Parts: sequence; structure tokens; C-alpha cells
Amino acid sequence: MKFFSHTLGCRTNQYDTAAIEALLVKRGIEIVREPSSADVIYVQTCSVTGRADTKSGQAIRKFITDNPSKRVLVGGCGPQGNRDSFSSIEGVEAVFGVNSAEQIAAHITGTPESKEHHEFGSIVEFNGRKRANLKIQDGCDSFCTYCIIPSLRGKPVSRSREDVLSQLDLLVKGGFCEIVLTGIHVGKYQDDKIVLSDLIEMAVKIDGKFRLRLSSIEPQEIDEKLLSLVVNNRKVCNYLHIPLQSGDDSILTAMNRKYSASTVMELFKRVRKLDPFCGLGTDIITGFPGETEECFSNTVDFIANSPLVYGHVFPFSPRMGTPAAEFKGQIDRGVALKRVRTLRKLFDEKKGNFFKTLVGSVQNCIIESGNRGHTANFAQVEIAGTVPAGGMVEVKITGSVNGNLTGEIKGE
Ligand code: SF4
Repeated sequence: MKFFSHTLGCRTNQYDTAAIEALLVKRGIEIVREPSSADVIYVQTCSVTGRADTKSGQAIRKFITDNPSKRVLVGGCGPQGNRDSFSSIEGVEAVFGVNSAEQIAAHITGTPESKEHHEFGSIVEFNGRKRANLKIQDGCDSFCTYCIIPSLRGKPVSRSREDVLSQLDLLVKGGFCEIVLTGIHVGKYQDDKIVLSDLIEMAVKIDGKFRLRLSSIEPQEIDEKLLSLVVNNRKVCNYLHIPLQSGDDSILTAMNRKYSASTVMELFKRVRKLDPFCGLGTDIITGFPGETEECFSNTVDFIANSPLVYGHVFPFSPRMGTPAAEFKGQIDRGVALKRVRTLRKLFDEKKGNFFKTLVGSVQNCIIESGNRGHTANFAQVEIAGTVPAGGMVEVKITGSVNGNLTGEIKGE
């Protein structure tokens, strides 16, 4: 039996699919990378926004149309939130919720579900990639008003520290140089008294040449120990992705976010002081209900005056089932998109300026393919000469052109 998977959405979703594949391999199923050579096609859906739901449906229908003889299964956040809308797609054989690796394996192999249930799975192969995701947490109970995830992924659940450390050891021994600690709300990691910074302090003690990257973390969940690990420990990428969402306090309150713009600005400036090369990234939603021109200009000013480098900027997309979808003062999509363009242009400028400061510095790089690598602070580098694929090398940054860095292996 040959199994092909297609995953939409976040790192946690990618990890969940890899966990399904790892279990199927244990059950004697072969994983293939082309739908044409598969018996079973599996689509791991994303449902974070209305648009994500639509894209998931489109992907499923395309696989069915292009592969009429194949069995098609669907899983992930889509069916978790709205089973019928996915099971009613003609050609879909069965649908599954999140964390359903066991059920999917039982369905495909026709064997009864094993009682042994492992929410996080054990994975040592990532679709041939050089970087590995390591899921340490699932679920969220913050209930930001625009977000459907708490009702899809449930309450926060943390993987035991022993399990995380043994999985990490496996990945390092498997040759992965960068491991991304991921989850739905990583900052809520808690195993008994062990919180995220304690876990990372333990993880960096594992032998081997590797670095840990944090996927994303809420500003209010960065404690002193974590900050020190990020700016001082070379086994932890000096990179923080902190979703701000808006630079205006009235919008942050309407979003039910747990911080003020000034608190986050203080944090960003403190990190920049501690590490002039730390990569600082964020998420911004434009056009949230009630976002007046004045609110938006507060966000523009925030970003312009902050040491931020990278920005994921998206227009508000009302998600059925969330409070914000019903809020008064919905903003015209055209206006939201215009604001997206303004911010993306601003972030391009900030990234270009930051990259200029890296010229002449030596950065730790992972080589992913050909001569392209990326630094611990998340910059892409084109490296001169021959470079070892998948390796970790020290690179002297020689130039910055159009938002891309050039470099040479240190000592060459
Ligand atoms: S913190 Fe907010 S945005 Fe993030 S998953 Fe939880 S509810 Fe959604």
C-alpha cells in the first residue's frame, strides 16, 4: 500500500502529517512523494481562516479530479471544525480530526486501532528536508477574538520533557542541524514545574552540532532565562518571532491580546540592545474591525520606530465561529489590502537596512540546497564556493544586494 500526503498550514500541521507517515511506515505502509504512484492520497487541512478552509477544499477537489482512481482521505483542522463540509465532498472516502494518526492507520490497514495513543508521535524523517520540526505542545486557551484555533485544537497540552529530549537526541543523531521547536502556543509549554526556558536549557545540553529555533512566542511569555538563552547560547538561534498583530492598543484590546504596544516595544528594544544581530520577526493583521486610519498609523509608527526586521502581514479574514467575525466596523477588504502593501514595503526597507549591518560579520549558517543557506537570525545567504549540503558552517557575510546576503565560508 502506497501513501501520499499533502499538508496545508503551519509547522504543527506539517509535524502532525510527518507523525502519521512515521506510524504508517511502522505498519508496513510505503510513503511516496507523487500522488500518481499512490494508492491513498491524504490531505492535511488548515482552517485558521475562511480562506484557508476554501484553499483546503480546492486542494482536495483537485486531487480527486486529477486522480479519479485513488482513495482520498482528509484530516486536520478542517474536519475537526466542520466534519460535514469535508465528508460531503464527492470522492472523499473518510475524514479525520486533528491528532488522528492511529485512526488513519487503522482505517488504511483495516486493522483495529491500537490502544497505545501517542499524541505527539515519533519522527526521524522530514520529507528529505535538512531542518526538522519538533512538536512540543498543542492547543491554546487564549481566545484571541479573530482566532478559531482554541476551538479546533483544544486546551494546551505539553509533551513530557523526557519525550522531547529523547526525540531531539534522535533528530540530532539523525543528522538534523536545525530543529524548530513548534506547537500551537509554544510559550504555554509546561511539564509539571518545567516551563519553556527550562526545557531549552536542558535541550542545549544534548551532545551534537545543532541549533534550536523557536517557531513563534507571545511577548508576555518571554522570561529572563529564555532571553538569555536566545542572545547568549549558540545552540539557540538568535531569532524571535513575536506576533504583535497591531501597534494600536485599542485594536489589541479588541483582539483580546494580552499586552500593550509600549510593553512590546520595550521588549524589542531590549533584545536589540542585548544582541545587535538578533533577528526580530512579527505577524500583523491589517483591517481588523474598527481599525481607523489613526489606528493604522499607530501600527505604521510602531514598526517604523522598532528594531523589527521581518514581518508577516495579512489582511483580516473574518473566520466564522469567532467573535471578531461579528464585530461592527468591518473594514473594506480593499482598504485592508492597501494597508498590507504599505507595511510590506516598510518591512522590506527594514530588512534591507538590517542586512547591511550584517556585512563583515560571521554568521552560523545551515546549507539547505545548492549554495543557499540561512543564518541563525533567519537571513538567506548565497555562499561562494563549494558547500556541504545540510551542513552547519560559519560564513563571513560579504555583501547585501536587494534583500539578499552574499557570503563565503569563514577561513576559505
Ligand atoms: S494565542 Fe491567540 S492567535 Fe495564537 S493560537 Fe491562541 S487564540 Fe490563536
